[in-house]
Amino acid sequence: MSHDADSYGFCPRTRASEDELARWKERRRIVGERVADLNARGICYQCRELATGDVLGPQHLIIDEPDVRVVLASDPRSPGHTIVVWKPHAHDFTELDDDATARLFSVCRDAAHALQTAISGVERVYQVTMCDGPVNHLHVQLIPRYAGSPIGSRRLIDPRGPVLDGDLLAGAIATAYEDTVGDGGP
Ligand SMILES: [Zn+2]
Repeated sequence: MSHDADSYGFCPRTRASEDELARWKERRRIVGERVADLNARGICYQCRELATGDVLGPQHLIIDEPDVRVVLASDPRSPGHTIVVWKPHAHDFTELDDDATARLFSVCRDAAHALQTAISGVERVYQVTMCDGPVNHLHVQLIPRYAGSPIGSRRLIDPRGPVLDGDLLAGAIATAYEDTVGDGGP
């Protein structure tokens, strides 16, 4: 199992320790309370997070550009589960103009390629965008599907868990993303 973030084929851990699970559950409880409070007041928690960083806690950042932020999901459904946040507030992608649509999905495409390149065993990357939050903020979830794992719509998602080796994982994905973009795209 390699933990060398400078090379491709990163192998993230899949088993959390009891301590890691306990810390994750506590963080999730606290963040859940913050989000519920903001929702109850009609405040977009993602806009608040982008402005202040005081909602979600420490994030594993992959890309941060003026219009888009890419981070590891805090409660991933598989190693490398990534969130692409469109920074300007929009409820969902039906509100985007042509340029914004092209930009957002170009970033999603490049990030999906980066996941496949950076992490060992990623065969597919599902792209999921849900828009049912009480105050929804457009984001796209990129969920890696690993070789040998069951596929199909009845197995669209696996249970959530903590981020493991997040700094190394985010670093490996960021390096692969920069290489993809630096090459002028795939
Ligand atoms: Zn928002």
